[in-house]
Amino acid sequence: MAEMMKAQVVKAPYQMEYTEVPIPEISDDEVLIKVKVCGICGSDWSIYTGKYAADKLPMITGHEFWGEIAKVGKNARNLKVGDRVAVDICLTCGTCYFCRRGDGLLCETFTQLGIHTNGGFAEYVKAPWKNCYKLPDELDDYTAAFVEPLTAVIHAAQRMDAKIGSSVAIIGCGLGILHGALAKARACAPVIVIGDDPLRLETAKKMGADITINIHEVDDVVAEVKRITGGVGVDYVIEAVGTTQTYEQAFKMLRRGGKIEAFGIAAQGDTAALEPYEFVLGEKKVSGSCAGIGNNWGEAITLLKYGIIDPRPMFSMAVPLAELETALKEIREKKNLVKVFVCPELKERVYF
Ligand SMILES: [Zn+2]
Ligand SMILES: [Zn+2]
Repeated sequence: MAEMMKAQVVKAPYQMEYTEVPIPEISDDEVLIKVKVCGICGSDWSIYTGKYAADKLPMITGHEFWGEIAKVGKNARNLKVGDRVAVDICLTCGTCYFCRRGDGLLCETFTQLGIHTNGGFAEYVKAPWKNCYKLPDELDDYTAAFVEPLTAVIHAAQRMDAKIGSSVAIIGCGLGILHGALAKARACAPVIVIGDDPLRLETAKKMGADITINIHEVDDVVAEVKRITGGVGVDYVIEAVGTTQTYEQAFKMLRRGGKIEAFGIAAQGDTAALEPYEFVLGEKKVSGSCAGIGNNWGEAITLLKYGIIDPRPMFSMAVPLAELETALKEIREKKNLVKVFVCPELKERVYF
């Protein structure tokens, strides 16, 4: 009989079962990883509620994980049992039109580990050995589980490519907090984080924001950003909420010739009213970014190792694997919870 492990399986929308399933079998090109910590992401909620990847159920979600290698496929190089690794979750074909242009995120058969295939809310997960990145000792157990969110933010920052000393407004105080920290690290100023929760905005300040704006405390957030920038508008806006209204605001607070980095995922089919005039006579630009890929993992690990980014103010708590479903619901209800981790080996909750 196959060896078994504990896992949280999303059986159908709103149906998660803490159960035993077989430990994944690996091919020669894969490794088996004993999961140590896996962060909870908004997309885990979207899958749990059937809004995303519903055709993949039943499955085990969780893509923000790291762990120790438990088994190594024959073809794997430079990896051994016991190594601490994070995993580039992007699974690409390598040969389609987009892959061959170096745009793996646009791959025609693009999938992500833990989003479209079984992930880290289990005792074990398998991954292609080539996607593994060894973690340096400097990364503590929770920071190591924060590599994936940072890769997405790095990818966006690279697409945006902000100049030193340029102003950046970030709409959203979830991963927006991290966008603020990275903008600061790129020597942008002022870095303005806009959000709706005082505790989260305080965290944004701790992590590098020069100015925070609570949308409940101002009449007009666009006017406030214009006021801060002497009437000009900001050089860059990162939209990290994903609603029609916030995209429209982003466009309005942007200076002429400025650039929007689209990061917040709006629902498919949602539209926003933008004046085409502003693209031509205002020379406004937009770029988009959906995730990190490839060497963004190496870059994220480096930034964490040398303390360029210290995400710890964002960490709220860690829960045992058995409590995943409860934790998912708590995150929706309590705004003060920012990053929540799941640890298969944990017996009771840890608060940070
Ligand atoms: Zn995520
Ligand atoms: Zn491809």
